[in-house]
Amino acid sequence: MERLQKVMAAAGVASRRKCEEIIAAGRVQVNEETVTTLGMKVDPNTDVITVDGRQIGSEKKIYIIFNKPKGVITSANDPEGRRVVTSYLKGITERVYPVGRLDYDTEGLLLLTNDGEFAHLLTHPKHHVPKTYHATVKGVPHGSVLDKLREGVLLEDGITAPAEVEYVDVDLENKQSVISITIHEGRNRQVRRMFEAVSYPVQKLKRVKFGALLLNGLPRGKFRILTPKEVKEIT
Ligand code: URA
Repeated sequence: MERLQKVMAAAGVASRRKCEEIIAAGRVQVNEETVTTLGMKVDPNTDVITVDGRQIGSEKKIYIIFNKPKGVITSANDPEGRRVVTSYLKGITERVYPVGRLDYDTEGLLLLTNDGEFAHLLTHPKHHVPKTYHATVKGVPHGSVLDKLREGVLLEDGITAPAEVEYVDVDLENKQSVISITIHEGRNRQVRRMFEAVSYPVQKLKRVKFGALLLNGLPRGKFRILTPKEVKEIT
């Protein structure tokens, strides 16, 4: 027997905390009885659990790569009514949710799935899954600035772990550069804060790689379902 919110999270409904909110909101039924208290234990193999009337655990696992445009919220719903990533997933009937988060103004590779364990594996800090971003900045930072980013910069929440940092493009005419940075942590707004710390605020930020998975030529705003081989190779 396991706690209801744990079973819901493992089935990919949402994070455990969010699942507690969903239970408290009266959206969950166990064997046709609405449950609103949090301590309940269930047997994931025999109890029938529904969220908003849909049975959990009965859906097949699905893994989606999406090229998120900027100006879109990484969430399944937004109380303020802004556009959310799931609104792009036309034809996907499974209840998927984002693996980690990209800022509203960040674009690029975002994974979505209904596989809670897989999402947990990829986002848990102890697994250090590398994520590569292309950051566009004004001017051309000196090599010593890149060294600082590589070695670690002091942020409010501590020094960053070593990162891989390279020039991707130096545009002398337009006085801007694109820098590739691979981080092995996932702190809130980490890349933007790192570049701010070295006085090169990010003008544009795009995630191009997550684990071994590349965004490649997937057009902005488009998604595709990953093959089992791709899923296996991400970590
Ligand atoms: N780092 C950021 O600053 N923003 C993101 O969206 C992702 C990583």
